[in-house]
Amino acid sequence: MSGFSPPVLGRSMWYLVTALGLALLLVLGLLPVDAEIRAYLSRTVGLATTVVFLWAVLRMPRKVRPLWWCLWAFQALTVLTDNIYDYQLRTSGEVPSPGLTDVLYFSSYFFAFAGLLLLSRHRSQTSNLAAWVDAGIFTTAVIALTGSFIISPLVDNSTTLDSATMVAIGYPILDVLVLSALIRIGLGRRATSPALVLLVVAMTCFLVADLLYNIVAVSDSWSLNSPIFEVLWSGALISLTAAALAPGARSLATPTVGQSDWVSPIRLMALAGAVLTTPVLLAVALFTDRDRTAQWLSLVTVLVVLLLMWRIGILVDIVQRDVRSERELARIDGLTGLPNRRKWDEDYGHVVADCRAQPAPVTVAVLDLDHFKEFNDRFGHQQGDILLRSAADAWRSRISDADLLARYGGEEFGLCLRGLDAEAAGPVLESLRLAMPAGQTVSIGAAQIDTSESPSDGFRRADMALYQAKADGRNLVRFHENSQP
Ligand code: GH3
Ligand code: MG
Ligand code: MG
Repeated sequence: MSGFSPPVLGRSMWYLVTALGLALLLVLGLLPVDAEIRAYLSRTVGLATTVVFLWAVLRMPRKVRPLWWCLWAFQALTVLTDNIYDYQLRTSGEVPSPGLTDVLYFSSYFFAFAGLLLLSRHRSQTSNLAAWVDAGIFTTAVIALTGSFIISPLVDNSTTLDSATMVAIGYPILDVLVLSALIRIGLGRRATSPALVLLVVAMTCFLVADLLYNIVAVSDSWSLNSPIFEVLWSGALISLTAAALAPGARSLATPTVGQSDWVSPIRLMALAGAVLTTPVLLAVALFTDRDRTAQWLSLVTVLVVLLLMWRIGILVDIVQRDVRSERELARIDGLTGLPNRRKWDEDYGHVVADCRAQPAPVTVAVLDLDHFKEFNDRFGHQQGDILLRSAADAWRSRISDADLLARYGGEEFGLCLRGLDAEAAGPVLESLRLAMPAGQTVSIGAAQIDTSESPSDGFRRADMALYQAKADGRNLVRFHENSQP
């Protein structure tokens, strides 16, 4: 055996990165480390994880590589920009906004969003529109919250909407975009792996840090130098790198199976909460005379109502489709795929009435396999089933689609031939008799339905003709002539 074993190496790397990362986070967060050393430590974490992450991506199978390249580009750009930011701050005492760092940070969001989008598309084979609308509804709640507590104050604080404010507003908007993709993944099917969990943890840390940073920047109540930001940001980088090394990372592009359209009570409650967030905030804003916030929230309310109506539309469609297919399934014989007795009872009368209305002749027939019990006894029930199925297939191909052929019961079939009188039906029924597979035979009784008799009387006469065919020696087609004028 060769000494190099990638999976084992990958696994130990995963443990190593996670353990080292946790230790570093403790140092960053809990120990009273000098701010300078803390900054230095978190920059080192950034560079080290990005290099390890790159190594992991290069070893990924081709199918998942685009996804991981996007996430790596997100991390690399963030780390690079952090360093440029630091450098500018140290050399010139301030970071210009809008400036190079904004451009780089904004592009990192693009890669994060693209990576999450790829992940979500890989995981569900079908594009699950309902899950996207749900994600949209949850996102509106976050839009309402960020709008009320971050963007609105940002706009209020600045007398004119200058470019720096516009850029500052850009960040929470991009956060919301990434969040919607993250929520979409969270709403996906359950098949989780350590890689997926770490990935979601990483992006959540990143978004929470960003959100907190924005709130702090607006409220001025808290220090932007708090260790919490470094802990969250470093936590995000460590988790994302560990995700690329963790079990499941290489199969992240494999779709999960067993998609369900059902909405769980928990999801329904969460959706209700998300839908209510905006109108409640709107009411609060109106009562506290915060006009600009109210204007903003009324727009989001319209959006959330539209999304909700869309979601209801999808649900109604799912329910109606299910009911329709259940109804159809209940009328099909599972063995032969022909209409069953229930369907025959529903349709037979209509077919006869249809022909009379035209007017056109109509003939009904009953087909019964000969000595089928014997066949079962000799070859077994399974072969009997196969014979029933192949007989049905052979007959179906010899009649018109408009004719009604149904499995009436056991080894008996009903056939209603549209537009054919007894004379025209004769050769058709002969061809069905001769089409009997496996060297077996069938007896057929038939009757042209009289204009004055009921469909069930016609059927009874066909049944009588079947008895005659059996009595006359089987493997025959017999017609019942109506003696009544
Ligand atoms: P005849 O020529 O007089 O019609 O004789 P037969 O043996 O065909 O008629 P009988 O009514 O005595 O037997 C019908 C048999 O069909 C008995 C039953 O076990 C068999 N059968 C009914 N439904 C199925 C089925 O779904 N699969 C199989 N394999 N056999 C079935
Ligand atoms: Mg029978
Ligand atoms: Mg029979």
